[in-house]
Parts: sequence; structure tokens; C-alpha cells
Amino acid sequence: MSPMKVQERQCRSILSPSGIPGADYSLNPYIGCAHNCAYCYARYMQRYSGHSEPWGSFVDAKVNAPQILVRQLRRTPSNASIFMSSVTDPYQPAERRFSITHRIIEILSSLPYPLGIHTKSALVERDISLLRRFRDVSVTFTIVTGDERAASLLEPGASPVAERIRVLSELARAGIGTSVFIGPIIPYITETGIQDLLGRIASAGVRHIMLDDLHYLPRLQDRLFPALRAYNTGITERYRAIPKDYYQQIARIVLEFCRSHTIECRILF
Ligand code: SF4
Repeated sequence: MSPMKVQERQCRSILSPSGIPGADYSLNPYIGCAHNCAYCYARYMQRYSGHSEPWGSFVDAKVNAPQILVRQLRRTPSNASIFMSSVTDPYQPAERRFSITHRIIEILSSLPYPLGIHTKSALVERDISLLRRFRDVSVTFTIVTGDERAASLLEPGASPVAERIRVLSELARAGIGTSVFIGPIIPYITETGIQDLLGRIASAGVRHIMLDDLHYLPRLQDRLFPALRAYNTGITERYRAIPKDYYQQIARIVLEFCRSHTIECRILF
């Protein structure tokens, strides 16, 4: 793995019109992501970043993002929803040093904009007191497996799964809306121990689960397959012929669990 290159950058805009359902704008406080997930779709945005280093080995911190946000919000309707973040993790390790996400949340906490946060980092716990001030906020954690060894190979820079679930509990206890995104489903990994994982998610007070299948497999193979083979040497052989109804089978398990635990479930495929 190449050494991590972290640098400061000035941005000219911080709110981008979003095509994500339920989000009018996306807000990315960083470029690049040290979580370095083996299935990351965002790394295909790298060509717009000016970086040639491998994904996961660079992070640019948009240090003037809070000031630019204040300026952009002056001409943004007060009911516009904001999603943080679509092509980075707003709570990745660099956030400990730069606190850009923290300052952005501080600004938004006194304004009416609905905010959705998506992360794999327990660092969001630091901002619970600010998040409690929002009228409309939700925090979503991605969790694709309950197996810590698989997670550490697939998402090497992210928080352990147990930490994510603990923070979900803390957020729910603080009255902040939480959800879990099981996506992408990683064939022959996600299904192992899924009942146990769902039980832990439900015990953390989560009332909303989203599920998505794995897209772009041919493009992801160069990063995904080595991580999968490190977990189980023969597993990628099974990727040659994933049964047509494979994802539907996983969806049925999750839907059934959600029905019996009064959890709202959205299947995105
Ligand atoms: S946390 Fe998200 S943006 Fe970061 S590497 Fe993982 S999938 Fe990509």
C-alpha cells in the first residue's frame, strides 16, 4: 500500500446538485477516502480529482468548505436536503485533524436544511450533541458483513463493525434517526451470519434498513478479488456464476426479518 498523502485544498463550491433520491445536494468535505473499500464505486470519480495515486492513498481536505457553504446557503432554498457524502466518507481519519465536517454540521445545526449523513466511522459519535439540535437529520452506517475479519479486508480503513453498531446505539439513544445500508451485498460474505448481524442492528435501535446488490463487478474485480481471496482462497471461483436469484434470496431473508421486527426495509434493486 502506498503511503497516505494528505493535503489541504481550497474549493470554489461545496454543494453539488445531487441525483441521489431524497437528496437535493451532496456535500463532500474531502476528496479521496482513506477507508479504501475494495468495492468502492467512488474511486471512479478519481479522474476528476487530479490525482494519479491509487485510490485510498490520498486525501485532499477542502479546508475553506465551511466559509464556502455559508456563502452558497444564502441562495439555497431552506427546504433543500443535503447528503454527506456521496464520493468520500465525511468522518474518515483526516476529519480528526481538520474538523471540516464538524464545522459544517455546526453551521447547519442552526438552519432548517434536512441532513443525511452516510459513514463507516465511529467518529460521528463526536458530533452527537450538534446532531441533536437538528429538526431533520439521519445517520446511516454502511455494514456489509458482521464478520470483523471480512470487514477489515473489504474496508481496511473503516471502524470495526462492533464500533459502528455501538455508535448506532448511542445515536438512537440520543434521539437521532439511524439507518443501516447493507450494500453492496458481497456474494458469499454478506449472507454468512446475516441473522446475527440483523439482530445486532435491531438491538441498536435501528428502524430502517436499505439493501443493494453489487454493481460494476467487472470493473471492481482488480481491487475486490484480492480482498476476497485474502479472506477465502477459493471464493472468487463462485463469482463466475452467481445464480440469477441470488440477491433476491438475500432480500427475502432481510425483508422477513424486518417484517417481524417492525423495521422499515428498502430494497434498492
Ligand atoms: S467509505 Fe465510501 S467513499 Fe470511502 S472508500 Fe469506502 S465506499 Fe469509498
